[in-house]
Amino acid sequence: MDKLIKRLRELGFSEDVLIKLGSIRKDELMHMNSRELAEFLGVKRREALRILEVMFKIYTQEMYLPASSLSGRRRISLGVTALDRILGGGLPLGSIVEVFGEPGVGKTQFCFHLTARKFAALGFSKKAAYIDAEGSFSPKRLREVLEGNGVHPDVAMREITLIKPKSTAMLYASLLDLWDEFENYDLVLVDSLLALPRLEYHGLDMLAERQQMLAKILRLMLKISGKGILVLFTNQTIGKITSSEGKDAAGGFIVGHVPGTVLQIRKAAGGVRVLRIVDSPELPEAEALFKIGRKGLIGVTRRS
Ligand code: ATP
Ligand code: MG
Repeated sequence: MDKLIKRLRELGFSEDVLIKLGSIRKDELMHMNSRELAEFLGVKRREALRILEVMFKIYTQEMYLPASSLSGRRRISLGVTALDRILGGGLPLGSIVEVFGEPGVGKTQFCFHLTARKFAALGFSKKAAYIDAEGSFSPKRLREVLEGNGVHPDVAMREITLIKPKSTAMLYASLLDLWDEFENYDLVLVDSLLALPRLEYHGLDMLAERQQMLAKILRLMLKISGKGILVLFTNQTIGKITSSEGKDAAGGFIVGHVPGTVLQIRKAAGGVRVLRIVDSPELPEAEALFKIGRKGLIGVTRRS
């Protein structure tokens, strides 16, 4: 924002306007139209439009990056051979991943496991943020999974920022806080994305508002992932989102919204779970088996 304000000062915008502008986050400003901005700043629409033009000129430069910076991205290995094999070695940093599936299928266990694997694979130089929006975070179980993955629980627990938002707005605000200090993190988990919106927005008449809020959250998660962070969110009710829009598409919520990897977990016989790659910008559709054990996610042997 400093760069933008400096440039606008040079262009002769009043200090009053610049102070008001300084109270908006860059992220919010990026998603405002000229009418909203004019209203907020108390200026003419033409002036607001000029501000947006200057902003986009400055910030679009950030969109251009060498393709080489995306190849060979570091991955967080899941430590389960079958899963790593279909995922090309694990889940890539700097990307967004959705894990969806029915209640009780293991999405939260997947989050605990990934938290442990982050420390196992990348060490403690950066932290993990765990946004528990459904109230299912269990420190006892997480410690067990950390230990199971050879990670010292006392050390790791200090490097995990646990966030328990009570509303969708608080969930969004906590992501904005993480955006502010993205350099301290390499993993951000949201379990689950729809737990809060589902409680707050009822019925078809509130659907548009809910989708707008979710789109804002997704855009912000995408921006965070753009800083080299793996952002993973879980989703229970994919069928419901799409069916209330009159479609019954199978697949994740982020399909068609933002580019990212969509994984589905489903149950098979004998406590076995199936992880399916539903959509990925770089991997073919594939399935692999795992189980949930004391140590977290574990491989399925022939005998089991
Ligand atoms: P929801 O959508 O309701 O949040 P979920 O997909 O997050 O569900 P989880 O809570 O991750 O589901 O998974 C629950 C499953 O994990 C249960 O089948 C349970 O048996 C299994 N589980 C939990 N702890 C252990 C453990 N210590 N050892 C083995 N399995 C476990
Ligand atoms: Mg859960």
